[in-house]
Amino acid sequence: MARRYDALVIGGGVAGSTAAILLASAGWSVALVEKRTFPRRKVCGECIAAPNLALLDLLGVGDALRALAGPPLERVALYAGDDELNANLPRSRGGTPFGRALGRERLDTLLLARAAELGASVYQPWSVVDVERRGGEHVCTLATNRAGESARVGARVLIDAHGSWEPSPIAAMRSRVESRGSDLFAFKANFSGARLEPGLLPVLAFDGGYGGMVLADGGQLTIACCVRRDALRDARVNAAGGSAGAAVEDLLRRSCAGVRRALDGAERVGTWLSVGPIRPGRRRLFSERGGFAVGNAAGEAHPILGEGISMAMQGAFLLCARLEEHRDALLLRAGERAVARLYSRDWRRAFGGRIRWAALFAALAMRPAARALLPALKAWPGLLTAGAIVGGKVRAAPVTSLFALAHSGERLERGSHAKVASAPAAHR
Ligand SMILES: Cc1cc2nc3c(=O)[nH]c(=O)nc-3n(C[C@H](O)[C@H](O)[C@H](O)COP(=O)(O)OP(=O)(O)OC[C@H]3O[C@@H](n4cnc5c(N)ncnc54)[C@H](O)[C@@H]3O)c2cc1C
Repeated sequence: MARRYDALVIGGGVAGSTAAILLASAGWSVALVEKRTFPRRKVCGECIAAPNLALLDLLGVGDALRALAGPPLERVALYAGDDELNANLPRSRGGTPFGRALGRERLDTLLLARAAELGASVYQPWSVVDVERRGGEHVCTLATNRAGESARVGARVLIDAHGSWEPSPIAAMRSRVESRGSDLFAFKANFSGARLEPGLLPVLAFDGGYGGMVLADGGQLTIACCVRRDALRDARVNAAGGSAGAAVEDLLRRSCAGVRRALDGAERVGTWLSVGPIRPGRRRLFSERGGFAVGNAAGEAHPILGEGISMAMQGAFLLCARLEEHRDALLLRAGERAVARLYSRDWRRAFGGRIRWAALFAALAMRPAARALLPALKAWPGLLTAGAIVGGKVRAAPVTSLFALAHSGERLERGSHAKVASAPAAHR
């Protein structure tokens, strides 16, 4: 065995890096394994809801994020065909009233670098390719992109934060997924020179899909959307050849006057990215043979509300608080099961409502019949504000004992808890 750690985290996205930062700063020895080289672009609307900014401060990257991110998101809009309506976004209580947008190539890089700074051993670009439980230890096989290079690493606690776009390397956490006609495929592109009011967050509603756009870092526009399989097929027929991304851009321009206006004269930066199908809902949060899941590996909401980063970060806080609380008991399976029970309860309470509300809003946005609601929304635009509130935009999941220092406004510093992690420098 090359090395043994208190915890091994699979995936260095927002969920995995948050978990690694929290555990490393609490004195755990942590391995963080990320298969891709950073910085990397990612399909995401890139909006970070306001309550997360306090958490990013705690993690020690809040100032860096504010220095880079786009303007505070103070207004929301709904663009459907030629109809457009605007409303205020709710102010979050606490230090930062409004969310911001930051490209994932920057956000994820900041968080992963912070985990390394706090002493986590970062294996990148390495993949976890196999996991086996041996007594009280998870034995993980890691491989690099370079042929033939592999390593075995042991960990008492395993955290699956591998996202939702590829199968989990943990057999016990995999679920069979049938392909369905209602499957949604996700797309994202960035544009420079776009025309969108700073601080405005338009939600796009069109037959067979929904999306959003925002000004993020460097004044670049991020546009991201989900398109149903049949609508995507029709869009590709209409676009008569070309890439799926080009067909989606054409569909968005045809479907929303606000998109045509924003992209008029704008220049795309990089390619259209696509992933899918998305699988909203809750997944398995724990298995004795596979450890704990966080982020999209644990569950996801329809991205119409842009709450995935919140759920990934806040879920990691919830899990790590329970792990630290039961740190000594984790040597026994009964201790692990106790953490699993508490974490599942915390997770359901924090995110169950967001998943249900997002599913309802997504269903309404994609159905032509729901356009009948537009006159009511125009008469009471406050309904859009209310939608953002129930969707979680002003509420963070409660973070418990380990993070009591959150209330004192302190940042997590290496060794500020009981023990200092002994992990060496990053493996890059
Ligand atoms: C169209 C769209 C728009 C969205 N817009 C927003 C938005 O505006 N705001 C918001 O909050 N959320 C949004 N989301 C949701 C958000 O992107 C996700 O919820 C979030 O990225 C989940 O984070 P994660 O850390 O769980 O997974 P990811 O960010 O996917 O990270 C997982 C990481 O694990 C790595 N990995 C995978 N397998 C392995 C392995 N075997 N070994 C090692 N590493 C591995 C991957 O390379 C990846 O870096 C959107 C999603 C979509 C589809």
